[in-house]
Amino acid sequence: MDIRGSRLERYPSFQGERGKMPENQIRVMYEELTPREFKKRLKQAPIAYLPLGTLEWHGEHLPLGADGLQSQGFFCELAREVGGVVLPMLFLGPDLKIRIEGKEYHGMDYYGFDWNLGMGRPEILTGSAYLMDKRLFRGLIETILGLLGRQGFRIVVGHGHGPSITEFKRLTPELEKKCGLKLFSARREDESDGFGIQTDHAAANETSLMMALRPELVHLENLSLDLEEKPKAVSGKDPRTHSSPEKGRQAISIQVERMSKILRGALEGGEQQIPQS
Ligand SMILES: [Zn+2]
Repeated sequence: MDIRGSRLERYPSFQGERGKMPENQIRVMYEELTPREFKKRLKQAPIAYLPLGTLEWHGEHLPLGADGLQSQGFFCELAREVGGVVLPMLFLGPDLKIRIEGKEYHGMDYYGFDWNLGMGRPEILTGSAYLMDKRLFRGLIETILGLLGRQGFRIVVGHGHGPSITEFKRLTPELEKKCGLKLFSARREDESDGFGIQTDHAAANETSLMMALRPELVHLENLSLDLEEKPKAVSGKDPRTHSSPEKGRQAISIQVERMSKILRGALEGGEQQIPQS
């Protein structure tokens, strides 16, 4: 008796629409794949994408999970182009930490303000809850890499929150050796053209990416109409005058194309010939 046939008859939804799925709906997120789908994607390209997210203030106009949402959105498009699987986003990461008068300030709590420019005193920004000790972050990344290697991945791409990328890149030579994987980020040496992925803090670049990926989560109307009034703890070009969904879309397609070449080269074992910047 053909059990498969009878199962499909009994549960017609099993038949699905997998073969007919449009390109932009192909499932690439780890947590959504069945073992069979997972195995197939891994066989096509043994690449895992790790969104280095945070839960962090990104201005009054962007959601607190902006870092993970942008890298996850970018990675989904990259995975549909090259193959591979997108991991769930992290929400913890390293950053600068400073203690003033008994209070601890993290990242933009301090660096988003400047007494000299009359931009106010440091404050614990609403929603910022992501800071992780660098040693623990290293342990977390190493654990994830170990688990991925065991499943047969050969390449891991980590990208997202700036200080997390910096740490991921710093650890790369050591962890590549230890875990037997090739590691990449999408950061370039020179990001001044504005078409990188997450190259400022809640300013024109990150806002444009969010507009392209998750427009329903962007609320520019929360920012002052008075352009003299600078948005709080936002770093980079003013999102009110310099961001657009088109800029975000352009950055994504430029970087998907660039990273595709790098990753395809690495899969063929020729990554050394392809410059990362
Ligand atoms: Zn960010």
